[in-house]
Amino acid sequence: MDGALAPVLLTVGALVALAWPLAGPLHRRWRRARLARQPFPHAWRTILRRRVPLLRRLPADLRLQLHALVQRFVAEVPVIGCAGQEIDDEVRVVIAAQACLLLLNRGGGFEGLREVLVYPGAFAVQHVRTGPDGVQHDERRALAGESHGRGALVLSWQDVLDGAADPSDGHNVVIHEFAHRLDQDHGPANGAPWLGPRRGYAQWSRVLGAEYAALRARVEAGVEGLIPAYGAIDAAEFYAVVSELYFERPIELRAAHPALYAQLRQAYRTDPAAWQ
Ligand SMILES: [Zn+2]
Repeated sequence: MDGALAPVLLTVGALVALAWPLAGPLHRRWRRARLARQPFPHAWRTILRRRVPLLRRLPADLRLQLHALVQRFVAEVPVIGCAGQEIDDEVRVVIAAQACLLLLNRGGGFEGLREVLVYPGAFAVQHVRTGPDGVQHDERRALAGESHGRGALVLSWQDVLDGAADPSDGHNVVIHEFAHRLDQDHGPANGAPWLGPRRGYAQWSRVLGAEYAALRARVEAGVEGLIPAYGAIDAAEFYAVVSELYFERPIELRAAHPALYAQLRQAYRTDPAAWQ
């Protein structure tokens, strides 16, 4: 390197190195501002009307907000087809719209989400589980959805469609898996989404802990109730399962579990019981 040029090049290099970390967020902000000026595509509106009847309940202001979130999701999150699944706007928009219900009034996005993988139907996974005797068991199960701590979220397209088709049955695989994603966005899944910088988690753990214990006791006693037995697996599953009920059967959830509903309303900053 030329001796006289070296300091100049080093200075330029240092400036580039300093500016580089800023380039990503700035570019993203510019791209989001450009997106915000684009109208919501008419074809997407038709897809949502046909495939996601839950959205008919949304008040006009929240529907507008959801449309903007869907545009951002589709622009920023890679959706990848697996095992021959074709990816088109219908797949992207139906997944995005249900996922973004969880973001309404919250701001931000699914920070740790890297990609969404979509299979045509239930997909097989192999898990290694260590039993109480210390023996490792290989488990092969068919799943409708899965959210990995590393940032990939996996969905079965058939289950996505089935979950969206009946907006009042309390089963929605997209809401379930994206609730896990919110839970995983700030550390290992423990049954709580990000509740805001000033909000304490004490009340959340007290209320959800008591509801979870009550569900476990009910399941052990073999008594049926509104919250499915699947929620008794652990705190993370409990939070994902009650999130499905919160958006799909809010009036029944509020009536049967008012304290739980109030915690979810604070976390999600929406009130689906008032949308009916
Ligand atoms: Zn789950």
